[in-house]
Amino acid sequence: MKIFNCLLDVISPSFCSFCGCMIQYESSGVCMNCSDKLIPYEMCAESSVAGDFKRIYYDRIYSLWKYNRYSRMLVSEFKNKNNLSISENSSSAIARIIKNECLAIDALTSIPISRSKLRKRGYNQAEHLAKKISKNCGIPYLETLKISNIGSEQKLLDYNGRFLNTLGKFVLTENVCGKAIGLIDDVVTTGATINEAARIMKNGGAVNISVFTMAKVEPFVYESV
Ligand SMILES: [Zn+2]
Repeated sequence: MKIFNCLLDVISPSFCSFCGCMIQYESSGVCMNCSDKLIPYEMCAESSVAGDFKRIYYDRIYSLWKYNRYSRMLVSEFKNKNNLSISENSSSAIARIIKNECLAIDALTSIPISRSKLRKRGYNQAEHLAKKISKNCGIPYLETLKISNIGSEQKLLDYNGRFLNTLGKFVLTENVCGKAIGLIDDVVTTGATINEAARIMKNGGAVNISVFTMAKVEPFVYESV
């Protein structure tokens, strides 16, 4: 395998998403120097991002990094520029969390994207990440949700607007009754989208929902995102 990876380095070299230096095929998409700039998020943050007055439907959230200019760039490379190598390390890091925390998860799923975004981007980044994690830890991937109502662009809305806008956004497409679900997304900002996805799955009988993301915006700074 090592020889194969060395060959790949020669045939099709990979470059650091930040500084552009050449990196090994199997690395995360960033060089060692640049990976120091990513600040790890507290691994198990029971979420309070939605504020006191809104009910939280997911049980726990794990994010790899705090959202800063470096992790934003990395997620953007992964999400918008087809740089899928970034998901290699992220998926094994998330698979490691599942193992180390002894989380009993029956199925992994991801936040769906609209058809127009899928057409434009060519792939759903959250689904890509979730399927990699599934391969890594052997937990099956299930497509549990689809978008029923596109609503407005979340970016244009304020904090409460984002929660209202996501209501009714998803429908359930798979039986999740009695299952513990691992829900994957790339970034969590207000938590509105993952909360609505979790609400739909809890209403469908899911017993437990653990959310995993690459990056997480610290509460109340999302407006600059
Ligand atoms: Zn670098």
